[in-house]
Amino acid sequence: MVAILTYHHIAEPCQEKAGAGLYVSPSEFAAQMNFLKVRGFSVVTLDDIREHLLGRNSLAPTSVAITFDDGYQDVYENAFPVLRENGFTATVFLIVKRLKEEKPGYLSLNQTKEMLSSGICFGSHTLTHPRLTRLPEDEQYREIEGSKKELQEMLDTPVHWFSYPYGNFNQLTIKKVQQAGYRGAVSAIRDNRLRPAELYYLPRVMVMPGISIKKFNYYFSYYYHLVHWWKNLRRWKI
Ligand SMILES: [Zn+2]
Repeated sequence: MVAILTYHHIAEPCQEKAGAGLYVSPSEFAAQMNFLKVRGFSVVTLDDIREHLLGRNSLAPTSVAITFDDGYQDVYENAFPVLRENGFTATVFLIVKRLKEEKPGYLSLNQTKEMLSSGICFGSHTLTHPRLTRLPEDEQYREIEGSKKELQEMLDTPVHWFSYPYGNFNQLTIKKVQQAGYRGAVSAIRDNRLRPAELYYLPRVMVMPGISIKKFNYYFSYYYHLVHWWKNLRRWKI
């Protein structure tokens, strides 16, 4: 079982605001990381998963990659210390314009560089977080390829992974991600079993707020896979 977890905010959920579903509390997050540690999960990078899918390496039977979308500041404040304590790596997908403009609530360049030097990886989540399939081809490519280039310059490190805003993509978007030279991409399709054919729209497990550790454990089960395999057939038709 190789799964990729999706998080957004690690902060106390604010019920009144839209997007409360994107908040996992710091104590829940710490308990979940502790669960991975105690249960002996191997926390791997997306590159490790890619090599595994291409048959070039083998991973521990229970391996998991941790991802964060959007690059919120609370990831630095509340997730990064826990990751470091446990010796876990993760990948944060940044909205490059927000990093560049140092927008409040988002990671700053200094924080990003500090995380990078502690083994956290960074990927692109486009320049401006649009619904890519609604854009003309050249604008899509600018969001996909332009964000890679800018991020590489700002971080002074190669950027190999891409995350689709809103999980929104089609065949053309995939093609553009491949043309831009990414090694792979993650989607909002839910599954905890990965296939090589899905390298450019890898499914993930979205961690919902307020869940018990028992529910967190379920995220790695074969039953979760079956439930979502069935849902995905109908929803994504891929
Ligand atoms: Zn996003």
